[in-house]
Amino acid sequence: MTRILIIEDEPDMRRGLQDNLEFEDYEIVTTGNGSEGLRLAQKEPFDLILLDLMLPGLDGMEVCRKLKEEGSTVPIIMLTARGSESDKVEGLLTGADDYITKPFGLKELLARIKVILRRVQPHPSSLREIEFSDVKISFDKYEAKKGETLLDMSPREFEILRLFIDREGETVTREEFLKEVWGYTSFPQTRTVDNHIAKLRQKIEDDPDQPKHIITVHRMGYKFLR
Ligand code: CA
Repeated sequence: MTRILIIEDEPDMRRGLQDNLEFEDYEIVTTGNGSEGLRLAQKEPFDLILLDLMLPGLDGMEVCRKLKEEGSTVPIIMLTARGSESDKVEGLLTGADDYITKPFGLKELLARIKVILRRVQPHPSSLREIEFSDVKISFDKYEAKKGETLLDMSPREFEILRLFIDREGETVTREEFLKEVWGYTSFPQTRTVDNHIAKLRQKIEDDPDQPKHIITVHRMGYKFLR
């Protein structure tokens, strides 16, 4: 069973999250204190941590920083009440895997949780390795090579490729990418997808201006050809 640790000091929020996530069949442990949360995360195995930013004891940034320093690989979603861009960037720099700004909808949070868990948990049915041209991708090891060169690819880029490959030859829309890879339930920023695709092309295509694998489908999205 997937275990989620919720570190959130606001009682209604904490209970609401717990009830809703238990309803989705997750096993939930909660605490309202940052230091206690850190202790739990160090002591017990979790598949995911939902971490509030402003907390008594240690704040969310500190908890996240300490866990990552100790080499923890448990994914962390920051729950932040402040919406400013600098907090988001800082949150991601301390190693959080994603953030969600309060107030958020439950549907959105669940989608984000699923995306992150899919990234870290094994995919029983889907393929683990693929080769095309001189590119070799291993989804098990999150490793990608072009020729002998190891590519510096982000987890999101792997997920974009995975979605491409699952839907090989079909057009995948920007909205579908945002839903499946980012866990978004509304789509204000389709340009985000274009930026990531451009970076991915730089890495895997021989000539990014004349792509052979990631093809633009005018007005629709993109498709992948092997
Ligand atoms: Ca708080």
